[in-house]
Amino acid sequence: MSNFTTLIASNADWFYLIGAILFILTLRGLSSPKTAIRGNRFGMAAMAIAVVTTFFLAEGPVMWLIIAAMILGAVVGMWKAKTVAMTQMPETVALMHSFVGLAAVAIALATVLHTEEAYSTVTRLELFIGCFIGAITFSASFFAFGKLAAKSWAKTLAGGWVKPVQGLLFVAMIGFGAVYFMTDSLPAFYAMTVLAVVFGWMWIAPIGGGDMPVVVSLLNSFSGWAAAGIGFTLGNSMLIIAGSLVGSSGAILSYIMCKAMNRSLLNVLFGGMGTAAVVAGDDSAPKTYKSGSAEDAGFLMSNANDVIIVPGYGMAQGRAQNAVKEMYELLKEEGVNVRFAIHPVAGRMPGHMNVLLAEADVPYDDILEMDEINSDFSSTDVVLVIGANDVVNPSAKDDPASPIFGMPILEVTKAQTVMVIKRSMSTGYAGLDNSLFYMDKTMMIFGDAKKMVEEMVRSINGGGH
Ligand code: NDP
Repeated sequence: MSNFTTLIASNADWFYLIGAILFILTLRGLSSPKTAIRGNRFGMAAMAIAVVTTFFLAEGPVMWLIIAAMILGAVVGMWKAKTVAMTQMPETVALMHSFVGLAAVAIALATVLHTEEAYSTVTRLELFIGCFIGAITFSASFFAFGKLAAKSWAKTLAGGWVKPVQGLLFVAMIGFGAVYFMTDSLPAFYAMTVLAVVFGWMWIAPIGGGDMPVVVSLLNSFSGWAAAGIGFTLGNSMLIIAGSLVGSSGAILSYIMCKAMNRSLLNVLFGGMGTAAVVAGDDSAPKTYKSGSAEDAGFLMSNANDVIIVPGYGMAQGRAQNAVKEMYELLKEEGVNVRFAIHPVAGRMPGHMNVLLAEADVPYDDILEMDEINSDFSSTDVVLVIGANDVVNPSAKDDPASPIFGMPILEVTKAQTVMVIKRSMSTGYAGLDNSLFYMDKTMMIFGDAKKMVEEMVRSINGGGH
C-alpha cells in the first residue's frame, strides 16, 4: 500500500463522518428551493468522498474493473443528466431507484457466493432483509418506471385473483428467507430473491392512477433501506448512514403525500385502490361547456385584481414555464396580484411544479402550497388552470363514488371565474371526468399550454387597463 492509500484507509471513519455531515446538510438544503442548489452541491461532495474513501478501503480490488465501472457510470449519468427532458424526470427517478435495488441484490448475491465459511445468524438476517427489500425495490420501481413512461408492458392488474397471489408470493418469499436464515441454504436464498422480484412486480401492478405519487416516494424510501441493510453486511458505516437518511426521508415524504391525498399508507399499499374506474362522458345527459380564446383570457386577467395560476402536468408536458413566467411579470407590471397555487401531487413527481417554476425564475414568495392558498380562492377574481386536471377535480370533495374521493384539492371553484388551458376534454392521470370543466363560471381554452400562454402574453401586451 502506498502512503497515500494508507493515509485514506486509516482515516476512513473520519472521511465517512465528513461525508455523513455533508449528506445531512444536503437534506437541509433541499428542504427549500432557495437553498436547493447548495444542498445538491453538498450531496455531490458527500458522494465523492464516500466513493473515493471506499475505493481505497477495498481489499485486493480488481482495479481496472472498479475504475471501468466508475467511468462507465459517470459517463452514462452525465449523458442522461444532460439529455433527459424535464417531462421524463419522474420515470427517470423511478428507474434510478430500481438500479439501487438491483445493486443491493447484486452485492448480497456476491457476498453469499464469495464466502466459503458459514455466516453468523446476524449477517444472514442482514443479507436476507437487504436482498429481499432490494429485489422488491428493483422490480417494483422498474414497473413504476414503465407506468410513468406509459410503456405498453406496464399494465395495471385487476381481478379477484391478484390479492391471494400476492399473499402467497409474500408468504413463500418470507418462508424461503427464514429457511436460509436458519440453515444457511443457498437454494433457499436464491428462491427468496426470485420470489421477491416477482412479488415487487405483483405488488405495484394493481396500484393505479392516483396512488402512484405515494408509491414512487415509498420506493425511494425502500431503496434507502435496502442500501442500509447491505451496509450492515459490508460493515460500511457510510452506506448505513446514507441508506438510512434516504430511507427515513423517503418514509416521511410518503407520509406527507398520504396526508395530502387523504389516504392511509396501508390502504395505498394493500388496498389496490386508486385505479381509474370512471371515464369521461359516462353520464347519460350530454354536458356542455364554454370555450374562449387566449385573447379573451389575457384581457380578463389584465383587468382583474387577483389572479391565481394553477399549474399541472400539462404545463410540464407543454414546457410552458418560461412563457408562464413572462405572463406573470407582465400582469405584475399591470398591477395585478398574481400568485401560483401548488398541489402536492401536481405533475408526475413530488415537487414537479416547484422545480419547473424555479427553473423559470419565478419568485418563491409568489409560489404557495395548497394549505397556504386554498382559503384565498373565494376572494380571487380569476383562476388560470394550466394543464391541471385531477388536482382541481371537485369530485374529490363532492362525489363519494369517485376513486379520488377524500383527496384534498385546490378549491378553484370558489373563485369568480375559472379558465382552463388544455388541448381537449380528455381526462388526466386518474382517468376521471372533471365537473369543473362544465361549470357556468368556467371557460375552456383549448390548445397547447405554451402556445396558449404565449398568445395570452401577446394579448396582455397589446391591451391592459
Ligand atoms: P393530470 O394528469 O390530472 O392532468 C393533466 C392535464 O394536462 C390533462 O388533462 C391534459 O389534457 C393536459 N395536458 C397535457 N399536455 C398538455 C399540453 N401540452 N398543453 C396543455 N394541456 C396539456 O395532472 P395534474 O397535475 O392535475 O394531476 C397529477 C396527477 O398525476 C394526479 O392524479 C397524481 O396523483 C398523478 N401523479 C402524480 C405524481 C406526483 O408525484 N406528483 C406521480 C405519479 C402520478 P389534454 O390531454 O386534454 O391536453
